[in-house]
Amino acid sequence: MVKASILYGKPLVDKVLNEVAEGVKALNEKNISPLLMTVEVGDDPASKVYHQSQRRTAELVGINYESVQLSGATSQQRLMNILRGLNRDPYIHGMILHVPLPAHIDARVVQWGMESKKDVEGVTPHNLGRLFLGVPGLIPCTAQAIVAMIKSTGVDLRGKEVTIVGQSDIVGKPTAIMLLKEEATVTVCHYATTERGHLEKHIRGAEILVVAAGQPELIKGDWIREGAIVIDAGINAIEDKIVGDVEFDGALEKASFITPVPGGVGALTVAYLMKNTIDAVRWQIEED
Ligand code: NAD
Repeated sequence: MVKASILYGKPLVDKVLNEVAEGVKALNEKNISPLLMTVEVGDDPASKVYHQSQRRTAELVGINYESVQLSGATSQQRLMNILRGLNRDPYIHGMILHVPLPAHIDARVVQWGMESKKDVEGVTPHNLGRLFLGVPGLIPCTAQAIVAMIKSTGVDLRGKEVTIVGQSDIVGKPTAIMLLKEEATVTVCHYATTERGHLEKHIRGAEILVVAAGQPELIKGDWIREGAIVIDAGINAIEDKIVGDVEFDGALEKASFITPVPGGVGALTVAYLMKNTIDAVRWQIEED
């Protein structure tokens, strides 16, 4: 069997960012300067890395990027007040609230208070409801990146057996909804699937496998169906290395396409964050 083709994120990143840069130019001609605002409560070293990559990418495409850094002791009420101010500010087009938030803040209450037209991570019930109903809105970036990666292989999704491992609101569930819209046959696995010893069975049946569990090498290479498309969204830090959720070398022998970690889905996620930002601007000016 020929080894799988490695599906790098870079070609799609370049394509999406070029489109975004064109979109920004068109908005600039209307005297609109897209601005993405991040809000962070407390000091999370992991989010610093994420911040830097967002800022670099935003600057590359001409989106202004600003951040509000709040102390870890900030109350929920104060955070809500700050977000309400950002909701009303016509110069701010996209908002990101970094999670995890400190334990004394109810993340759902705060996130759900964000203006949905500025919700570039697609976390508000309004945007998730739109996704569920197939109405255009702002869709979680990683789900968009995963689906774009799958489509870049040229596969016809209709009726395909897809297994997704992970059912989070931000990755697994929105990906499942997007793939259902393409009329794929979608199975979603989670902790309980593994507890019952059924994970391997669902992996073996998958023509397309999406993994977003956050468990290094959870998926063994020899479970992969011959010729499967494997999308690994997992990001796990092991000593000084980043690895995914799939045993890469083993999977390479069985799959037709496989995404690397790093250099796969993660890189494309940030590009979709930029795309969501200009989509957000367009949504905001639609009714003006
Ligand atoms: P989460 O912790 O919210 O959800 C993990 C999901 O995986 C849960 O539904 C859980 O049931 C399932 N799971 C965990 N261990 C399992 C096991 N042993 N067997 C079966 N299912 C299991 O995580 P999340 O926010 O969706 O993130 C998942 C992974 O994706 C993490 O590694 C995260 O870093 C990564 N991630 C990547 C990007 C990206 O841009 N590539 C973006 C977001 C998250």
